[in-house]
Amino acid sequence: PIPTWDENSAELASTHLKESGSIVRTRFPPEPNGYLHIGHAKSMNMNFSLAFEKLGVSPENRETYFRYDDTNPEKESKEYIDSLRNDLTWLGWSPAKTTYSSEGFNHLHSCAVKLIMKGLAYVCFLTKAEVEQQREVLKKRVAVIAKGGDPEKQCEAVSPDIYPGKYRNTSVEENLKLFEDMRKGKFPEGHCTLRMKMDITSPNPNMHDSMAYRIKYTAHPHVGSGWCIYPSYDFTHCIIDSLEGIDYSICTLEFETRRESYYWLLWALDLYKPRVYEMSRLNIAHTVLSKRRLLKLVDSNTVRGWDDPRMPTISGLRRRGYTKECINTFCNDIGATRNMNLVETNRLEQAARVCLADVSRRAMAVLDPVKVTLTNFTDSKTCTVPNIPTDPSKGSHDVIFTPTFYIDGADVRAEADSNFFGFAPTQLVGLKYADVKVRCDSVKVGKDGKPTEVICSVTDEVTKPKSYITWVSAVHNLPCEVRQYGHLFTVPEPSDKWEEEINAESEVVISTALVDPSAGELCDASSTDKWNSNNSFQFERIGYFVVDDDTTYDSKSGKGKIVFNSIVSLKVDIAK
Ligand code: ATP
Ligand code: MG
Ligand code: MG
Repeated sequence: PIPTWDENSAELASTHLKESGSIVRTRFPPEPNGYLHIGHAKSMNMNFSLAFEKLGVSPENRETYFRYDDTNPEKESKEYIDSLRNDLTWLGWSPAKTTYSSEGFNHLHSCAVKLIMKGLAYVCFLTKAEVEQQREVLKKRVAVIAKGGDPEKQCEAVSPDIYPGKYRNTSVEENLKLFEDMRKGKFPEGHCTLRMKMDITSPNPNMHDSMAYRIKYTAHPHVGSGWCIYPSYDFTHCIIDSLEGIDYSICTLEFETRRESYYWLLWALDLYKPRVYEMSRLNIAHTVLSKRRLLKLVDSNTVRGWDDPRMPTISGLRRRGYTKECINTFCNDIGATRNMNLVETNRLEQAARVCLADVSRRAMAVLDPVKVTLTNFTDSKTCTVPNIPTDPSKGSHDVIFTPTFYIDGADVRAEADSNFFGFAPTQLVGLKYADVKVRCDSVKVGKDGKPTEVICSVTDEVTKPKSYITWVSAVHNLPCEVRQYGHLFTVPEPSDKWEEEINAESEVVISTALVDPSAGELCDASSTDKWNSNNSFQFERIGYFVVDDDTTYDSKSGKGKIVFNSIVSLKVDIAK
């Protein structure tokens, strides 16, 4: 009988079994085959914090290992290794220890030898096609057994080479020699594998002699070129968990069926058994959370890179203007359970609004400028704008009001409309922070019917305007590029044909935007002085924006280009 941890499908228990005062250890084990994404942020939040909360472990008794689960050298790289560490640190997590599965290769190899000596592993020379055929046969036999039938009678006869399999009964001595030959590089890639001799009658296909080692003539990005055989995930994960003395090994639900093989191997090697728990995988609507798919978006130049602001990667979200607080708040809000987890982007956006409101510096900007000319005002006037209205300690900045200025196209209509309080003929409008009221005298339109200029006069009548519109002086302003982002995919749950479901308009570049010049110094590309952790702005009445990495602006010479990324609109965009 193979002992397994029997709180099988239970939620993480609310009391842990260790005596209080002792260390409780979890691990976060990403594979360096891509950049971390928001799903990993959920896993980190669970492994560094939430799991301990659920277990009632006090902060001083918590330990989380950060483990590079690096057993597929052909998919892994130094770039990914570095990015994982960078993103984890940026999110604010500090592991008790950083480990690499690859640093355990010697130990894993000796475990494999031990397993062979126990008669529980064998070198298998079945071809890929034969292994596939064997898998099908086993599946059919298991289905017959499940229905109470007799596979010997009901299943068509197959060669004993396929079932039970030609190499299952090779002697221990022969297997030891063959495995050593594998290690020495005597066989070509794909020629044979080391398989665990598990239980081919099990209803769980993961017990059908899963692969422990395969041949790969690829150097490893972390440990170099010492190996031409590499252990599988199934072989590695449980042994390293055990070796590291992990108390709670938390993974996502698709690994639930691998629990049995996890404990089988630890039982076979007589090793310490961590407790395995599963939680649901995070899925976010209108995007994909799989490194394999994200890599395709990068390789096909669908996006600007792993850190494209549309990407659900940590680096993409960072470039988009999300702070670690936005991301961790979101992860706390969604929690960790076994329930299906498809989350609307709105949840993430709402976390951003809450976190950015009190840290983003206010600025006035217009994305689609329409000129306003005042006919009875020739002065200019200095106006004071609070940097953060809810926090006077953050000071204020000055903007200069002039007789010609720009407003946003969304704030103008060619015809008066009783439901519209912006600029339209005869309308009374206030100008934010300028303490100026104007009456709209006329709106000029272009050939396409779009307003091109608004003519107004300053008025001192006592009536209160129904709106206060944001503006940018026509004399004092900074031109900038604004990139607005929509969903990466046109459908909430991208299907197998996900490549056809990519939203071609997920990025809209606005090159006409103007921002108040006081924002200039904060946009300086060479300045390391940041207003807040990510240099985000709230463009009043529009939304949150962040200075993008593509910015080359130099505030002293006034040369170069300013690029802003839209982070999130001020209000939930219902149309989306
Ligand atoms: P991907 O398919 O994106 O490569 P993965 O599960 O193979 O995902 P790993 O790098 O092996 O990625 O994952 C490290 C840890 O993060 C694992 O414990 C995994 O379960 C967890 N994880 C990965 N994606 C998600 C997700 N979408 N939601 C929650 N946890 C996740
Ligand atoms: Mg993985
Ligand atoms: Mg993966």
